[in-house]
Amino acid sequence: MAGPCSVESEEQVLSVARDCKASGAAILRGGAFKPRSSPYAFQGLGLEGLDMLKAAGRRTGMPIVSEIMSTEYLDRFIQDVDIIQVGARNMQNFVLLKELSHIKKPVLLKRGLAATIEELLMAAEYIMAGGNDQVILCERGIRTFETYTRNTLDLSAVPVLKRQSHLPVVVDPSHGTGLWWMVEPMSKAAIAAGADGLIIEVHNDPPHAKCDGQQSLTPAVFDKLMQKLRLIANVEGRDI
Ligand code: PEP
Ligand code: MN
Repeated sequence: MAGPCSVESEEQVLSVARDCKASGAAILRGGAFKPRSSPYAFQGLGLEGLDMLKAAGRRTGMPIVSEIMSTEYLDRFIQDVDIIQVGARNMQNFVLLKELSHIKKPVLLKRGLAATIEELLMAAEYIMAGGNDQVILCERGIRTFETYTRNTLDLSAVPVLKRQSHLPVVVDPSHGTGLWWMVEPMSKAAIAAGADGLIIEVHNDPPHAKCDGQQSLTPAVFDKLMQKLRLIANVEGRDI
């Protein structure tokens, strides 16, 4: 899964989508509703952004994944989004999880900023208990005393989650490190650790991104990364 942190314009998301698809990405990501630490930071384009993401997905033939922040627009997400993302900040929003348990759409559940593996699994259980068995778990880094990286990517969670559950496990090296040059080594390690997928932020102009530019890859860097990751996956007997 690859694409911009947030949808910024029709042209931006379509151009990134085309590049990601050409490099072999299977699913297009893009935030329309952004949970920012500061209320003064870019909050996303909302429903307009969702329309732009949907259009880019259609034009490129890619399914789309986008974050839902509340049940307010659940119907729109059910209609337009192929995988509904629950962000780290909402991992234990049990009202939201219960609503998502009654639908028939895949949910990408991201690990909370300070959530244990057990808590992540119990959050997944909330979605499945109501009848939605399509849950994808996502390790995206946790808060530790280390500040060099934005979060500490807990790759040891991957084999634990694979052992404790049957659910697919995806790793997000972009939010996990916060540094674009760390995305390659952590992606390689994630595949070697048994991850079933990766979600990577790609932007056409990272220095001017409205959100998370410092951790976003250019399409050219993403393309080189995908070539290397195919080799690592092959060593593990898997394909990208
Ligand atoms: C994101 O994927 O853009 C995002 C906000 O992720 P997280 O919830 O992991 O911080
Ligand atoms: Mn982001």
